[in-house]
Amino acid sequence: MEQKLTPLELARQTLIKLSKIQSPPTPENYRRVYEEISGIQPSKQSAILNASLEKVLQEKSKNNPQYTSIAKKIATLIERQDASNLEAQLRILLQSTAGTGDAANWGALLRYLLKQLDVNHSGLTLSRKKEGVNQVIIHFGNDPAQLSQKIQALITSWGDGQAGIETPAALPSAISSSTTAPSTPSVITHKASAVSSNNDNKKLVATAWRDMLIRTINLVVAPQFAEIPSALTRIQALIKRAEAAETIEEVDKLNDALKSTLLRAEMQNDSQHRMQEALIQILRLLVSSMGELTIEDKWLHGQLAIVQEIISKPLNIDAVYNAESSLKELIFKQSNIKPGLLAAKETLRSMVSTFVSRLADITVSTGSYQSKIQTYHDQINATDNIAELSSILESLVGDISAMNEDAKQNHEALQETQKKVEYAEKQIVELTVKLDYISEVAHEDFLTGALNRRGMDEALTREFERADRHSTALSLAMLDIDHFKKINDTLGHSTGDKALAHLAKVVKGILRSTDVLARYGGEEFVILLPGSKQDDAVEVISGLQRELTKNFFLHNNERVLITFSAGVAERVTGEDADSILPRADAALYLAKQSGRNRVIGAEPVVARDSQ
Ligand code: GH3
Ligand code: MG
Ligand code: MG
Repeated sequence: MEQKLTPLELARQTLIKLSKIQSPPTPENYRRVYEEISGIQPSKQSAILNASLEKVLQEKSKNNPQYTSIAKKIATLIERQDASNLEAQLRILLQSTAGTGDAANWGALLRYLLKQLDVNHSGLTLSRKKEGVNQVIIHFGNDPAQLSQKIQALITSWGDGQAGIETPAALPSAISSSTTAPSTPSVITHKASAVSSNNDNKKLVATAWRDMLIRTINLVVAPQFAEIPSALTRIQALIKRAEAAETIEEVDKLNDALKSTLLRAEMQNDSQHRMQEALIQILRLLVSSMGELTIEDKWLHGQLAIVQEIISKPLNIDAVYNAESSLKELIFKQSNIKPGLLAAKETLRSMVSTFVSRLADITVSTGSYQSKIQTYHDQINATDNIAELSSILESLVGDISAMNEDAKQNHEALQETQKKVEYAEKQIVELTVKLDYISEVAHEDFLTGALNRRGMDEALTREFERADRHSTALSLAMLDIDHFKKINDTLGHSTGDKALAHLAKVVKGILRSTDVLARYGGEEFVILLPGSKQDDAVEVISGLQRELTKNFFLHNNERVLITFSAGVAERVTGEDADSILPRADAALYLAKQSGRNRVIGAEPVVARDSQ
């Protein structure tokens, strides 16, 4: 029977054996010899460890099949005593536990995903988004840790307007604020999974680039050929090919077709640019020659000066719309005022003609009177007969009184005519002065009845001064109608005009009498809200949006929903228009970016002027 040694004796024997076999007494050597002498079998220890690990992992694998394969690998590695690979497997195990352990995290992520599928992301359709989610599930569905990370990256890329682009993005704030332990993107250390995930990544990146390319062609290139059907057909074919491309190689093959399309687009752009330049040159010439021809007409000069100023600056679409708007204003005022002026001139002309014809009557009467007097004179000289003379004189008196009556009537008619002429002249002077005045000081936009730019500038100065004087709040909102081009394109420009007038009418109906509505240009409006802080102003403008959903614009008895986006900024003391307008505009830009039909408050200003 084998005798059981005490631990002390065991230690002694171990040291003796080590010196006998001339092994250095390192901890490893010591343990090996100690186990040999004590009869403990290393494999037994491994088996105990292995069994415990396998038990725990088997239990866990009920909820997560991934543990089954890891448990098997670990058991084999322990048996083979393969320490380095065992370490790698354990790392993977820890990694995946960290990625999937938090059930609340998954719940929040899925809720966020559902919400983001509904949100309107610029240039992305719902089916495109679903396709992205599907791709991620296909590639990472068996790897929960990666799956959550990829879904997060996908959602982030939608927000960037880069559907499908995979960026290691942080968890969106909507999730991180609702979870207690935000997950961090896991790092892939295992070589085999790194290779396959690299391939997956490549594929996703290729798909993302392809989608971006298609969107660019659709949004930027195609519209340039809108007027050239043959080119448009070619581009549609190119888009179809691009949509079918799955790999980088296939995308690469599109290169030649794309190159030639881009070259054509560049040429098309160039010729459009030259065309615009030529047109603006003609307009400049026209305006300057009109100015020279109409030296006397101050009113027309005023309007021409506005147009001239607009087109002397570098051309952009806003400038063209402003020019158009000024010219429309000119035509509108002209149509209101000019008929009055023309009528007055017409009255004067007819008065003068009456006067002349009366004069002719007088001359005629006077001529016959003189010749009659001469006849009576001759008859009087020739007669000796008193009875005859008496009858001649009787006729003479009769004729003279008739002439007197004529003369009296003519005199009265002439006086009346003179009065009318004087009145018409006065009216002409008044109307001309009024016309000149309107040209110089017009404050209202003719189409919408809102203030025009000149009126707005004056209102800004007035209200800013008042706010500073009384230390009261003042907010400014900038509105831009959503997709207004579409309204023009589908219903026509003049219906677009009516839609603008409708919007202004609804807005005026809601605003307080102290609020100011101005047409900033095109389909952009500015609303000044004296006394309102930013949050209150945001509320008022949101109210306008709600009102517009109830108070429809009707076109051919059909309801057309007009929505707008708005940016609202509260003025800080001393702030001028050049600062608050861009702030409101920046917030408006954000409102457009985040899906339109919404109102966003501007970032607060660092109070530089409030000392
Ligand atoms: P977004 O939602 O991005 O604002 O889209 P949008 O189509 O409204 O784009 P944008 O504001 O850039 O375009 C303004 C359009 O408004 C261009 C022009 O066709 C139209 N527009 C500008 N002024 C007038 C006008 O006086 N009458 C009409 N009918 N249309 C105008
Ligand atoms: Mg606009
Ligand atoms: Mg717009």
